Amino acid sequence: MHDLAVYAAHPEQSRGRQHQEAPPQGRNEFQRDRDRIIHSTAFRRLEYKTQVFVNHEGDLFRTRLTHSLEVAQIGRGIARNLGLHEDLVEAIALAHDLGHTPFGHAGQDELNACMKEHGGFEHNLQSLRVVDLLEQRYAEFDGLNLTFETREGILKHCSPQNARQLGIVGERFLDKGQPSLEAQVANLADEIAYNNHDVDDGLRSGIITLEQLAQVAIFARHLDEVKGLYPELGSRRLVHETVRRMINSLVRDISRQSADNIAAAAPGAIAAVRSTQLPLIGFSPSMQQEQLQLKQFLRTNLYRHYLVNRMSSKAQRIIRELFAAFMQDPNLMPEDFQQLAKADKPRTVADYIAGMTDRYAIREYRRLFTVEEQPL
Ligand code: MG
Repeated sequence: MHDLAVYAAHPEQSRGRQHQEAPPQGRNEFQRDRDRIIHSTAFRRLEYKTQVFVNHEGDLFRTRLTHSLEVAQIGRGIARNLGLHEDLVEAIALAHDLGHTPFGHAGQDELNACMKEHGGFEHNLQSLRVVDLLEQRYAEFDGLNLTFETREGILKHCSPQNARQLGIVGERFLDKGQPSLEAQVANLADEIAYNNHDVDDGLRSGIITLEQLAQVAIFARHLDEVKGLYPELGSRRLVHETVRRMINSLVRDISRQSADNIAAAAPGAIAAVRSTQLPLIGFSPSMQQEQLQLKQFLRTNLYRHYLVNRMSSKAQRIIRELFAAFMQDPNLMPEDFQQLAKADKPRTVADYIAGMTDRYAIREYRRLFTVEEQPL
């Protein structure tokens, strides 16, 4: 481990866990968090949850698992450049999507709509719910009992209404404070990861083309560089060489700009980081503009493409009809969920659906709604 800066999160000064535990032997508190996340059931399910493309549509596309690994890799690189705690960034990155529903954003939006009268559904809050409550592995507590710092990083957004229910981890949404720099790094590493791998997956799927992407400044700049160096390069390698340069330039830009921001604010400790008005981790203004252009391009040309819309529409129907069926008869759910539903039916149904992988949700849908012969 490199030298930790004064403004980094120091594990021995952690604000602690909800349930007191003896300090770990031979590893620090944030490593223990990371290790618990990797061993969780929710983490393994990420392999079969969609990012943009539904899991069974191709083995080469990103899933939430590979996405989370990429976020951790990018985040650790930035953390090392800035003297931040790499293990904490990694723990946050690996946990940040644990609460995602099947079928990506389409699934989350539909579940939120289903839960409108019952407190709504936010995937960030659900990630926290998974690590605080839903994982059942330890004798002495529900959830994974993670440190405050990891939980703070997982809860990227939160409505004031929900923040009031959450104790210390909700406070910054009410007091307008910032999270640790490690949390800020994980957040932007997420953005770098999905913009770049969505370009790659989008091209691989044929939904977007190189010609279209040549209109996007950040892509065009790096594409021209690669073409200049290797005029004869085949298209797969051309894309890869371009994307790796984009990721590298984003990581370098964020490291440089954030180092300047930190130097100007000169926080003497993590408490000073938490009380700054604006995040200190960020892109330079010109890179911010380019990132925005790329995001808009992806929104228009990939996320709203009719082939993606078709998948989303199917996904929404599955979520909506599963929700209605379980609400009407909770006894269609497995035994342990039936028990939990007695205390809070809508939230239990939402937890059950949110935990499903893409293929499990599809299977459940068939089991419930198809009259032809189905395996149990
Ligand atoms: Mg993510």
